[in-house]
Amino acid sequence: ATPTALMVGTSRAAKMGVLIKDGQALEEINAVKTIAFDKTGTITVGKPVVTDVVGDQTQTLQVAGSLESSSEHPLAKAVVEKSEGEQVKLLPVTDFKAVEGQGVTGKVDGQKTFVGSLKLAEDTQVPQEFKEQASKLQNEAKTVVYVGLGNKLIGLIAIQDTPKKSSATAIAQLKARGLRTVMITGDNEQVAKVIAKQVGIDDVIAGVMPNQKSAVIESLQKDGQKVAFVGDGINDAPALTTADVGIAMGSGTDIAIESGSIVLVHNDLRGVVRALSISQKTFNRIK
Ligand code: ADP
Ligand code: MG
Repeated sequence: ATPTALMVGTSRAAKMGVLIKDGQALEEINAVKTIAFDKTGTITVGKPVVTDVVGDQTQTLQVAGSLESSSEHPLAKAVVEKSEGEQVKLLPVTDFKAVEGQGVTGKVDGQKTFVGSLKLAEDTQVPQEFKEQASKLQNEAKTVVYVGLGNKLIGLIAIQDTPKKSSATAIAQLKARGLRTVMITGDNEQVAKVIAKQVGIDDVIAGVMPNQKSAVIESLQKDGQKVAFVGDGINDAPALTTADVGIAMGSGTDIAIESGSIVLVHNDLRGVVRALSISQKTFNRIK
C-alpha cells in the first residue's frame, strides 16, 4: 500500500476504536489464518462473581477471604467481595504466597491453608462428594476453587464470569472469514470448553501456565502459519509479542497494551473483525 493508503486505513481504524500502532500489523493481519484468545477479560467480561459455596459457608469464606485479601487476582477479588457481603470476619494471614497459575497459600490462625486449583490440593484428600459437586459446577461454566485448612479440604467456591455480549457475534464473523479460532487459558478444561461453546470457539487449550502461553502461540505457528493473539493480562504480554499480530484490549494491563501492535479501545472482539476488513481494503486494492 502507498503511505497515503496506509494513513487512510489507520485513521479510519482509529475512528472505529481500533488503534494500529504500526502499519506492518495492519498488513500482517490480512495473512493470519488462526486467531487465539485469552479467556478472562478478553472473551469474558472479566468481573467474576461467587455463585456457590459448598461446605460450611462461614468457615470456607473465612479461610478463603482472609487468604485472598492479599491477592490481586480477579478470582481473589470475587472471593473477598463475597466474604465481606456475608459479613464474615477475616483473620490475619502469615506466610502468604501466590502460586502462579494455581492459587494462594498461607497460614490462618497458625494453620496451613490454601485456595486454588486442584493442583494445590494435591497433598490433600478430596472427598468424592466434593469432586462430584466440582464437576457439576464446572459444567455450568463456573470456575471452582478448592479451600484447604490443615490437611483437610473444607470447601469449594464456584465463581462465574460471563462472556461479553459481543464475543459470540465477533467469533461468528471471524469464522465466516475462514479463520480458525482457539482459546488459550489457565482455567480448567471443563469450564473453558463450556465458555468456548457458548461463543462458538473451535478449539480449547486449557490449564496453560502463565509462562507457557507464548510457547502455545509458537506451537500454533508451526508450518509458518500466521497467528494473531488477543489478550489483556500481565501474563498475556509474552504471547502478544510472540504472535505475528498481538492485539490488546484497551482495558488491559499497561504491559499488555505496550506489547500489542493493535489496541481495541472498545474492549470488544468486534474490533478484530474491523481491523481485518480495514486491512483488506487497504492492501488488496493497491496491489
Ligand atoms: P487465566 O488464564 O484465566 O487468567 P490464571 O493463569 O490466572 O488464569 O489462573 C489459572 C487458575 O489458577 C485459575 O483458574 C484458578 O483455578 C487458579 N488461581 C490462580 N490464582 C488464584 C487465586 N488468587 N485464587 C484462587 N485460585 C487461583
Ligand atoms: Mg485475561
